[in-house]
Amino acid sequence: MSKRVAVLGSTGSIGRQSLEVIREQGYEVAALSAGRNAALLLEQAREFCPPILAVADEEAAAEVQKELDALERPPFLFVGKDAARNAVAEAEADIVLNAIVGIAGLDATLTALADGTTVALANKESLVAGGQLVMREMQARGGVLLPVDSEHSAIFQCLQDPNSARTLQKIILTASGGPFYGKTQKDLAKIGPAEALRHPNWSMGQKITIDSATLMNKGLELIEAMWLFDLPPRQIEIVVQRQSVIHSMVEFSDHSVLAQLGVPDMRIPIQYALTWPQRRPGPAPALDFRQLRQLDFGPPDEETFRCLAACRKAAEKGGLAPCAANGANEEAVALFLEGRLSFLDIGRLVEGCVDGGSYAGAYTLEDVYACDAAARRYVREHI
Ligand code: NAD
Ligand code: MG
Repeated sequence: MSKRVAVLGSTGSIGRQSLEVIREQGYEVAALSAGRNAALLLEQAREFCPPILAVADEEAAAEVQKELDALERPPFLFVGKDAARNAVAEAEADIVLNAIVGIAGLDATLTALADGTTVALANKESLVAGGQLVMREMQARGGVLLPVDSEHSAIFQCLQDPNSARTLQKIILTASGGPFYGKTQKDLAKIGPAEALRHPNWSMGQKITIDSATLMNKGLELIEAMWLFDLPPRQIEIVVQRQSVIHSMVEFSDHSVLAQLGVPDMRIPIQYALTWPQRRPGPAPALDFRQLRQLDFGPPDEETFRCLAACRKAAEKGGLAPCAANGANEEAVALFLEGRLSFLDIGRLVEGCVDGGSYAGAYTLEDVYACDAAARRYVREHI
């Protein structure tokens, strides 16, 4: 069956891999959205011919528009901060694959769910910053939220038996440990952006690569798992699995454990979200156990990697605390990449921001953006 997919953040790491899967499956593209990479967006538009394009950056949009003007039947172009959301509202998509990075993806997630459109979610920050709103919107319209994040896809795949939810005891969320596994605070003090941008197992966008090095990514994923699988933090255990081959596991009441394994290749979880409930042949290579030889496990070091500890505190506090952690982290990572903060400052500031407020209770979308802005301000004032 063909499907129409809107790909948001199509010029990024997940966006590009999503288009590979879409090409392979012969699906249609209902819309493409990008931040600022005009050249790549135009190339994608030429191949996939979507009726709608969206570009957040105004200068890049002008470049795109100039090329579109030469076409006989150009796609409609949305421009600016709300471009992705407007594209989602207009597009006739069966699935919106949201691969925008950061809280910038929240509006589009909410808009798709409000329309009752299925969302394949890579943009974990949507759930971390506005989980209450996202889940409420999904439940109100009977929508479907499919995980693209490899760990959450693994858990989702392990829970396909409809009876499994009743006996689920805990989730075992695996972590690679990042490039600095085993390092001390003293070692980490000297780490600069170039080193932090080298990840051992996955090739990803800059922000999530830094999040993997600080273990913020695992903290965000802890919160993402709470929302997706409706579990409190104490039922989500984080285990380092160095090879990134076991993508996560679930344990049932009889202590039976199911795991999903595969080579570290995001096209597997992307494809599962797009073809679900079907499973289809895909482009990722098979796992070769004879080559692999061993699987290593260990505990995460939350004493050293304070971002993970901060996310756990935020998860316990609830309300807007995860939103504050996320906003502080987005700002701190941007400043770290500009060379204005040290590696350890990221954890210090995310934790300081979470500790600095009570955050509990219900919230509106305006509250989310106000909390995000306050967290970013906190970081800039505490450099
Ligand atoms: P990336 O930086 O490679 O790509 C981000 C995309 O978002 C780009 O297309 C960019 O143009 C677009 N974008 C940025 N700001 C925007 C804005 N304001 N409005 C609209 N579009 C904007 O990032 P990525 O690695 O592809 O990650 C995307 C999301 O998927 C993140 O939330 C990340 O945590 C999640 N994720 C990524 C991976 C991975 O392997 N890369 C794995 C799991 C989850
Ligand atoms: Mg992940």
